[in-house]
Amino acid sequence: MPKLFPCVRILPLAAALFFSASVSAQSIVSSIKPIHLIATAVTDGIVEPVQLIPSNASPHTYSLKPSDMQVLTQADVFFWIGPDMEQFLTRPLERTSAQIVELYHADEHDDHAKHEDHHDHDHAKHEEDHDHDHDHAKHEEHHDHDHNHAKHEEHHDHDHDHAKHEEDHDHDHDAHIWLDPVNAIEIAQTMVNALVPIMPDHEAALKANLERFSADVRQLDAELSATLAPVKDKGFYVFHDAYGHFVQHYQLNQLGYFTVDPARQPGARHLTAIRNQLQDGQVVCVFSEPQFTSAVVTSITRGLDVGHGVLDPLARDITPSATAYVDYLRDLAGQFSECLARG
Ligand SMILES: [Zn+2]
Repeated sequence: MPKLFPCVRILPLAAALFFSASVSAQSIVSSIKPIHLIATAVTDGIVEPVQLIPSNASPHTYSLKPSDMQVLTQADVFFWIGPDMEQFLTRPLERTSAQIVELYHADEHDDHAKHEDHHDHDHAKHEEDHDHDHDHAKHEEHHDHDHNHAKHEEHHDHDHDHAKHEEDHDHDHDAHIWLDPVNAIEIAQTMVNALVPIMPDHEAALKANLERFSADVRQLDAELSATLAPVKDKGFYVFHDAYGHFVQHYQLNQLGYFTVDPARQPGARHLTAIRNQLQDGQVVCVFSEPQFTSAVVTSITRGLDVGHGVLDPLARDITPSATAYVDYLRDLAGQFSECLARG
């Protein structure tokens, strides 16, 4: 939130240097809103963190403005998902001296070696459960592989059967990690591990915030398991391939998605396949997203008895607060259960 920038920004340079160690707040910047919400929880009452990418922008398509670059340059700590999500940040991050904490590490490849000194290697899980049998060198060349369906297909020998694609999808390449509450707790832990060394005076408060956040999320998780249990078997389609972690955690019956890359319209053949499945009556609900036009969703469901819900993978309309992440995930679960319960 720009209006809440630490006061050091408006002080003359000499004063800023003098005060920065003791008086001014640290500049803690997160890339996208959901990560910012978790940062807001762990820094509650200590410092006001900053969100880099505007809430109404998509991290898949955003490009940095000069003012964003300034925020990045002046950051003490920067939290991002990683190149699988905010690919456009890879270059700009080479120009900041901030401590960079990457929260999702899909692949281990040599290109990351140059960032090693910034990383604290405290990635929120994922390291251990990856199979490393892909051709990473080739993967890396393309950078946008996570949302480039064509490349995705090459690597996985998929057969354009998206329902099957979903089943096989062991979310190794789904960078939308914040949609699993267990990951959110691990992200919060990673953040606190990174923040304690630079804010040692606040160690107790940071750890207390982490405890409270973790307890809130665990309670939420139990609540959502109960909320979603009755609709577990109801088939649905989502707009873009963002919900794998949520779907897998709550064992929901996602039949497929319209598109891997939300900036790209789904192909005609894929739409025909979805339309056929809709006509079979297996699909209770299709979900669009507030960030993108739902015209394709509206037209494909026309005349069919299929519900239409809206899922926001980026918490666009949630006001940051210590409890906002929990509120957000509860809202998301509510969207699922409300639409799926109709079938
Ligand atoms: Zn996405």
